[in-house]
Amino acid sequence: MTAYDIIDHTSDVVVVGAGGAGLRATLGMSIAGLKTACVTKVFPTRSHTVAAQGGIGAALGNMAEDTWQWHMFDTVKGSDWLGDQDAIEYMCREAIPAVYELEHFGVPFSRTEDGRVYQRPFGGHMRNFGEAPVQRACAAADRTGHAILHTLYQQSLKHSAQFFVEYFATDLLMDENGVCRGVLAWNLADGSMHRFRAHTIILATGGYGRAYFSCTSAHTCTGDGNGMVLRAGLPVQDHEFIQFHPTGIYGAGCLITEGARGEGGYLTNAAGERFMERYAPTAKDLASRDVVSRAMTVEIREGRGVGEHKDHIYLHLEHLGADVLYRQLPGITETVKVFSGVDATRAPCPVLPTVHYNMGGIPTNHHGEVLRPTPEAPDAVCPGLMAIGECACVSVHGANRLGTNSLLDIVVFGRAAALRASQLLRPGTPHEPLVAAVTDRALARFDRLRHASGKTPTAVIRLRMQRTMQSEAAVFRTAASLQKGCAQMAEVAAGIAELGLADHSMIWNSDLVEAFELENLMACALTAIVGAEARHESRGAHAREDYPERDDRNWLKHTLAWIGDRWAVTLGYRPVHMKPLTVDTIAPKARVY
Ligand SMILES: Cc1cc2nc3c(=O)[nH]c(=O)nc-3n(C[C@H](O)[C@H](O)[C@H](O)COP(=O)(O)OP(=O)(O)OC[C@H]3O[C@@H](n4cnc5c(N)ncnc54)[C@H](O)[C@@H]3O)c2cc1C
Repeated sequence: MTAYDIIDHTSDVVVVGAGGAGLRATLGMSIAGLKTACVTKVFPTRSHTVAAQGGIGAALGNMAEDTWQWHMFDTVKGSDWLGDQDAIEYMCREAIPAVYELEHFGVPFSRTEDGRVYQRPFGGHMRNFGEAPVQRACAAADRTGHAILHTLYQQSLKHSAQFFVEYFATDLLMDENGVCRGVLAWNLADGSMHRFRAHTIILATGGYGRAYFSCTSAHTCTGDGNGMVLRAGLPVQDHEFIQFHPTGIYGAGCLITEGARGEGGYLTNAAGERFMERYAPTAKDLASRDVVSRAMTVEIREGRGVGEHKDHIYLHLEHLGADVLYRQLPGITETVKVFSGVDATRAPCPVLPTVHYNMGGIPTNHHGEVLRPTPEAPDAVCPGLMAIGECACVSVHGANRLGTNSLLDIVVFGRAAALRASQLLRPGTPHEPLVAAVTDRALARFDRLRHASGKTPTAVIRLRMQRTMQSEAAVFRTAASLQKGCAQMAEVAAGIAELGLADHSMIWNSDLVEAFELENLMACALTAIVGAEARHESRGAHAREDYPERDDRNWLKHTLAWIGDRWAVTLGYRPVHMKPLTVDTIAPKARVY
């Protein structure tokens, strides 16, 4: 193995990731006086959070009466009862102060006539326990994530957090007692290797949308934190639950926010019919995302798709008028023009369900502490490790996430992790020595990938993986497609043994970055498809044609998945937390909109 010089850093906390979750945690830790290092592979304001358009959910009640209890009910129902009700209560209650806090940090929210934070309707957000749509999404036009991310970055700088920008974290440093003691990272610009030691390591690395061929997520959404956790021998949770957003731009995959339907947009089929009225008589076009994506897929399958190949659906915005479009949806109007050549003020936009969000991730409790579940202790925690944001599964989204609940998740649980760490840690506590074997293990893997000299380029293996996931783990699933998919994915993963890099250098080697990302994506994809094959029911985003009903007797439980030698996946399960913190359990019932 090549000898590597290592540059050491010590702090109280290391946050890996500078999206909304990582920045909110970094900010909170810095305010609490903890020395905090934030390591990020892209410049903070380029994190995928910047692309979030539609809004952040909170029952402020600025447009009409609303309560956090209604928000909680909608979230539990949206999750198809797979969400943990303690975490959901915490999030919906904390939503209100969290949004005001963002406002005070400087987020430029859109306003009502009388100067309050403007709120728009969004899918699955209803008044009075499911009666009729309510306006709950707080928005900064259609650039809400952009506004939040820039504000949080400015605040973090103000509180002197230390940033390590364009450093790629490769592996966790886990000691012989299973305690997380740090992370190994590679400085992309000068090729140096860095060991970040801390008493708490917080993963905030975002989702793994890029396991699929067509998705709305950035190229950086490669499940790196999930991969690191799996390699550390810890499980991921509920990876089979993958959200398809109803309105990706046909052919391009870029997102048209649900806020577009919130502002009055609607879908039609080839007959010009507003078909959502048949599938969801009350919520119609604002039913939950899984419901709308399935309805669109059925319309296309039954020959009522639009366009030359009858393979997509129309989203109408033209009736809203240029005024509303330029004021409330300026980014969307522009994106539609660029990516489909359509003038949204005059003609309908071509759309298709597109992979958008990962409900599953690294299991945590509602303080952000990562779980190391055993059958006897399903809620046991892994010392020294936390996870927040899209890479985590706390689980507030269960089997299906409601729009606006992810921006909420990242700020609420980013803050919760900072609060927890400031309870657990005393600033400046010295670090105990780390045995050499811990770093050597991580370095050996680095070296193996760096010198990979097989015949297959990264891009070839990645495309095989993405195509397999796209066709076999899609909106609708069957035993046949999933079994075929599992077998194909096992083969694709085995192909990594034949990986070869064109460039073995350490400086700006994007080929090597992509190889690391590929191994992480592969771990995510495998655990997702194996979990999906095993789950014999339909719940939220997981729709099995051979098991069309939800089965609470056998399947009201979280899937756990571990990866062993040669990419072998092992499954286990843990109970859903049905008991909220202070209110009564919301008992499972049929989910209709
Ligand atoms: C197009 C789009 C629109 C959306 N709109 C909305 C919306 O309107 N409302 C809503 O609630 N949700 C929305 N979502 C979902 C929401 O934006 C995301 O789930 C959320 O922003 C994720 O935030 P995060 O902080 O967890 O991760 P990200 O913002 O993805 O950030 C991940 C961070 O981790 C870092 N990182 C990753 N791997 C490594 C590594 N190996 N080493 C070092 N650093 C690493 C990256 O550099 C980055 O800083 C949208 C998502 C998309 C894709």
